Amino acid sequence: MKRKRIFSIANQKGGVGKTTTAINLGAALAMRGKSVVIIDLDPQGNASTGLGIERGARAKTVYDVLLGSDSVETVARPTDVENLAIVPATMDLSSADAELMSTARRVVHLRNALRHRSTPFDYVLIDCPPSLNLLTINAFVASDAVIVPLQAEFFALEGLSQLLLTVREVRETANSDLRIEGIVLTMFDKRNNLCLQVQEDARANLGDLVFKTQIPRNVRLSEAPSYAMPVLNYDPTSRGAIAYRALASELLERNAITKDPAHV
Ligand code: ADP
Ligand code: MG
Repeated sequence: MKRKRIFSIANQKGGVGKTTTAINLGAALAMRGKSVVIIDLDPQGNASTGLGIERGARAKTVYDVLLGSDSVETVARPTDVENLAIVPATMDLSSADAELMSTARRVVHLRNALRHRSTPFDYVLIDCPPSLNLLTINAFVASDAVIVPLQAEFFALEGLSQLLLTVREVRETANSDLRIEGIVLTMFDKRNNLCLQVQEDARANLGDLVFKTQIPRNVRLSEAPSYAMPVLNYDPTSRGAIAYRALASELLERNAITKDPAHV
C-alpha cells in the first residue's frame, strides 16, 4: 500500500501564511496528481472558507473526528479542485482544547484517526491554529513532519525557537519520528531590507532546513480566498501561484530522494 505523508503546517504566530500555504501547497500537490486532504484544525475555519465550504455545509467537522468517532474519509468534503478534499472546522473546535485535556489519551486522538484507518489520501496537510495548544500537539503527534511558514519580519526567529522546542518535546515523548520538513519564508519582499536580513539569518542559522522556494508577497494570494479558491485556480500565472507550485515540486523532490523507503 502507498504510504501517506502527514504534514503539520504550524507556527504559533497568527497571520504568517499557514492557511495560505495549506490551501495552495495542497492544491499544487493535487494538480500533480496526488490525492490530498487538508485538515482544518483552526476554529476560525479559514481554510474551509477559503476552499468554498459554506458554514451551513459543515454538518460534520474535524471536531467529530477528534472527539467523536467519525473517520477522516467520511467527514472530508470534496472541493472544486480535483483530488483536493478538506475536513472542515467550525467555532465549536475552540472548546476542543479543554475537552481534550480531560481525556487520558489527549494527544493521540488525531493520530489514531489518521493512522489506524485506511484514509485514501497520499498527502494530509494539517492547518494548525495560531497556538501551541493541544490541537497543535495532536497535529504534531499525528505527523511525519512539520512545515513552518515564517514571515520575514523582526522577531520571526525568536518565535521559531519556541516552536522548535515544542517539536523536540513531542519527539521525546509521543512521536519519536517527528521531523521538521522545512521552514518556508512567506510574504517575502526582496525590496525590503528587513526581509533580506531575516532571510540571511534564517539561511545562515538553519541551513538546509529552509526551503529554497520563497513565497513572495503577492496580492493575488490574499484575494483568492474571497473567491473561495486556491490562487492556482484564481490566477495560475501569478507570482504566488508560481511560488506554491515550486514549493510543491521541492517538497516532492526532497521526499522522493531522501525519505521514501521505496527509493532506497
Ligand atoms: P495564518 O493562517 O498563519 O494566520 P494566513 O495564511 O491566513 O495566515 O495569512 C494571513 C493574511 O495574509 C491573509 O489575509 C492572507 O490572505 C494574507 N497572505 C498570506 N500569504 C500572503 C502572501 N504571500 N502575499 C500576500 N498576502 C498573503
Ligand atoms: Mg490560519
